[in-house]
Amino acid sequence: MDWLKNTVNWLLEAIFPNNYSVSGIKISDTFFCVVCKARLPNQKKICHKDSHCYLAAATSYREQKVRDWVWRLKYRGATGNARPLATLLAAYLKNLNLPLEKYLIVPVPLSSQRFRERGYNQSELIADLLKEKLGIEVASDVLVRIRHTAPQAELNEPKKRVNNVAGCFTVSELPKNKRAKIILLDDVCTSGSTLQEAAKALKKAGFKNIIGLVVAKAGQ
Ligand SMILES: [Zn+2]
Repeated sequence: MDWLKNTVNWLLEAIFPNNYSVSGIKISDTFFCVVCKARLPNQKKICHKDSHCYLAAATSYREQKVRDWVWRLKYRGATGNARPLATLLAAYLKNLNLPLEKYLIVPVPLSSQRFRERGYNQSELIADLLKEKLGIEVASDVLVRIRHTAPQAELNEPKKRVNNVAGCFTVSELPKNKRAKIILLDDVCTSGSTLQEAAKALKKAGFKNIIGLVVAKAGQ
């Protein structure tokens, strides 16, 4: 009955539009270490040098509004919530001052089972809006999740999160521009294991410069 749930939510959204204002939400202006979440000014790895990607997080998961938008987007079919999340990401990317024309957005894929249950990939929805706002190309077919995994949110121990996603991604199709820098896009980052695992697969396929971009990171 997912289609019914999604339709009802879509109707509710149409009748009672949400407050999508991002004012008052603190937007960051640096990169972070994907392992320990330390701030990395000037995109310099100063702590965990062997990590597979930089973490770029627009804001903190402690922002109540953001947490609510993400949750409703993922679990309540509220696809319109992708819009304020993309607004936050666009503002953050401007703060980072990256040469965006050199980047390609690769949304973190869902397993086919999860995609069927949800009906859409929330990261892909956000990626498409970023393309619309900033003109960055999106390549949704590059990365594939080859194994269904338990939701990371259900696992508390970091070690369990690492094991849960180990080897679950592969690169299925190389983009036309093989030298593109990659913005790997996910909704949130908690332990960083999903981003690290996906970045590992991209590195194996030859990509060098990978940024794991999320709307919000847990912790500091
Ligand atoms: Zn670190």
